[in-house]
Amino acid sequence: MKNQQVLLAARPRGPVETSHFRFAESEIPRADEGEFVVRAHYLSLDPYMRGRMDDAKSYAKKAEVGEVMVGTAVGEVIESRHAKFKVGDFVETRTGWQLYGKSDGGGVRKIDPAYVPLSAYLGVVGMPGVTAWIGLNEHGRPKAGETVVVSAASGAVGGVVGQLAKLHGCRAVGIAGGKAKCDYVVNELEFDACIDYKAGKLDAELAAACPQGVDVYFDNVGGPILDAVLAQMNAFSRIALCGQISGYNNPDALTVHNFRSFLVNRIQLRGFICSDHMDLWRPALKELGTLVHEGRLKYRESIVQGLENAPAAFIGLLNGQNFGKQLVKLI
Ligand code: NDP
Repeated sequence: MKNQQVLLAARPRGPVETSHFRFAESEIPRADEGEFVVRAHYLSLDPYMRGRMDDAKSYAKKAEVGEVMVGTAVGEVIESRHAKFKVGDFVETRTGWQLYGKSDGGGVRKIDPAYVPLSAYLGVVGMPGVTAWIGLNEHGRPKAGETVVVSAASGAVGGVVGQLAKLHGCRAVGIAGGKAKCDYVVNELEFDACIDYKAGKLDAELAAACPQGVDVYFDNVGGPILDAVLAQMNAFSRIALCGQISGYNNPDALTVHNFRSFLVNRIQLRGFICSDHMDLWRPALKELGTLVHEGRLKYRESIVQGLENAPAAFIGLLNGQNFGKQLVKLI
């Protein structure tokens, strides 16, 4: 038995290709004193990984060429010399794109797959869910009766944003790519409306879906969609700037024209990173876990089987080929 790993082989300039990754095999790690070894069951693929591949100033340390790609997994402890983690415990851990990893327990969360499904701890009851919770509650600050718009609405973060907005008593309007995603957002997640930005009528459909204007925009994508929403923002509205995925492979796509709307509408824009608010993770995860456990918060997953399919699935995620939280099943 060997460990299998995906390494960063080269830094992309523009779109990511499978040649930017390299597969490797190594010995399965052994735990030293104060450590434990995890067999990963699911690996999370997340848009932030694109930023780690670049050699650019950012809020987090870049991935190094030749090293295992950064990432979070959920799995089972198979060997332990750590006082607080025992064999058979399930954990969420940052062991990266590999089958086995070891940890000293730093930043590791014990999880209970009997409470919500194991994979959900990487999505709706994990970092994406917490991001939605923090961005909406802390920076969007929605009040009952207001209109909340979210882009990438069928995705891991966006799907939670709209459902939480509904729980706040707001009108939730999603923006997503394609009819199938929009149907899911309205019929399954119970948003009030969802606009297919690929259908070519974004401005008119946004105005129709938001007859009272937009009070909160949760921006996951940037670029032309941000521009379109800016034209509908109300006076003293808020933008929680969470992501800019439309420009991760091509920063030139992020041009905004409706900048004047910030002044005219006195819009408050706040860029945020979920790790800025570690004090909020515990209450956020508690609420999200309860909602999922009770069946009041829905989610969808795109799961590919096998580590060998991780690079292609990651490229697909950046191009909108995922439908819900993108995961790799490793067992
Ligand atoms: P998703 O599950 O939403 O998947 C990404 C989606 O982005 C795709 O499915 C696609 O949906 C959409 N997308 C891709 N390219 C474009 C484009 N050119 N224009 C419009 N939409 C596009 O991913 P996550 O929920 O994990 O992440 C959503 C956003 O949140 C990302 O920008 C991510 O970087 C950000 N994020 C930020 C965090 C923070 O702390 N600030 C933490 C976690 C995530 P569609 O088919 O609908 O276009």
